[in-house]
Amino acid sequence: MSYRKNEAIPINPEQELPIVDCHAHFPDKEPYRKPTHSYESQYEFFFEKHNGQFIVSSSSYYNYDYLHEYTQIHEEIYLTVGCLKPSDRYGMDVVMEEHPHFIDIVENKRDTYVGIGEFGLDFHHGKTQSIRQEQIDYFKRVIQETKHLNKPYALHVRNATQRDVDQKNPNHEFNQRDFCNKIIVKILEEEGIKPEKVMWHCFSGPQEWGPKLAKLGYYISVPSSAYGFKRWRRNISGVPLDRLLTETDSCFQHPFKMGGFNTPANVKYAVAAIAYVNDMKQQEVAEKVLENARKFFDIS
Ligand SMILES: [Zn+2]
Repeated sequence: MSYRKNEAIPINPEQELPIVDCHAHFPDKEPYRKPTHSYESQYEFFFEKHNGQFIVSSSSYYNYDYLHEYTQIHEEIYLTVGCLKPSDRYGMDVVMEEHPHFIDIVENKRDTYVGIGEFGLDFHHGKTQSIRQEQIDYFKRVIQETKHLNKPYALHVRNATQRDVDQKNPNHEFNQRDFCNKIIVKILEEEGIKPEKVMWHCFSGPQEWGPKLAKLGYYISVPSSAYGFKRWRRNISGVPLDRLLTETDSCFQHPFKMGGFNTPANVKYAVAAIAYVNDMKQQEVAEKVLENARKFFDIS
């Protein structure tokens, strides 16, 4: 495990802030990373030491089940319901098998969740032209079939980098560094989705898109890793505080360790990063972000 302390900001996160983790995969039935503490102790730590809230997110029908059960037991934790996207790993057949279950949940269990997502486009995990087209078509379908529910959306958007170029079609527009952003904004506009109902989870740029999306009215969610890694911090410069949310994407996006196991309480590192970039007090950032989150998810 490598440490990137050299890129970390020179302030410590404050401990007693009102914080909100808008996106965590918590608990995780089969975590990608081995937990350093039990989920119950992470939960207790969050609520004993912090005045705040967190929201857990499913990304498929597979992990929906126990997250739903978990949020039924822990009433102060909220849920967003996501679905699979076609990728190099899951073909359209698998996605279609899950789709009716996903639609059934979002239609018929409206009182049990506060948002739809995560779902979206990932051109890193979808490298061929056909999979990318399927992702776009499926994204549009999910928006069309759920927009009447008037729930906020938590989007996963990962543009292709130079390493993700589709080798068979190197000049295709799908390889552009901001293609996913462009097509998503286009679809959302065509479908009449209000920008203030959309959160760009773990916003990954490109940099000029931060202020651009904020100006359109979208919410940008800042991961805890913005504390220790410049590339995440860059994306929030010029984004006004009233468009920002914070998240951990636990167990991913550790504040400063590459590959470290992350926990919702670490969302205070995202607050510290925003405060540092904007030269503001952490308390002021924390209060405003919590207010933004409550408004966005319509929670008290
Ligand atoms: Zn996530």
